[in-house]
Amino acid sequence: MAGDGTLRPRFWETVAPADMTPAEWEALCDGCARCCTVTLEDEETGELFATSVACRLLDTATCRCSDYPDRLRQVPHCIQVTPQTIASLDWFPETCGYRRVAAGRPLPDWHWLICGDREAVHRSGPSLRGRMVSETEAGDEPERFILGSEQEG
Ligand code: SF4
Ligand code: SF4
Repeated sequence: MAGDGTLRPRFWETVAPADMTPAEWEALCDGCARCCTVTLEDEETGELFATSVACRLLDTATCRCSDYPDRLRQVPHCIQVTPQTIASLDWFPETCGYRRVAAGRPLPDWHWLICGDREAVHRSGPSLRGRMVSETEAGDEPERFILGSEQEG
């Protein structure tokens, strides 16, 4: 049964987010790391701009959080994504697996649940692996690291 950490076949197409097990919900993350980077907001227009400046806890070489179990204590602004909060996280990329499934959209070919390869997001998807600079090294002008709109949608 899925409660033991296994994933039900094609659960993302058949199970509502609120009814997924914790393991199934976590599995929706594609590992792109785009939610672990600084987002800037134009104070006048409210427009949001993604940057390649990574959270200090992000391992920029692997795209993984270096202290996931304790992240919420170490980084107070880190977001715990849940079926209840995902709808309000409109600054997450459109490509995000959580956003896609919560909105009833299909997962892309490069998502590991579809292709079985967790490296595919880095080769063919929106991963920022190899393109980030840690906030500990970025200096005080994050505007210099604003990303284009590639891989959105
Ligand atoms: S943006 Fe979504 S899919 Fe990408 S790392 Fe964050 S939670 Fe996972
Ligand atoms: S604490 Fe970890 S999960 Fe949270 S934003 Fe930073 S790197 Fe990402």
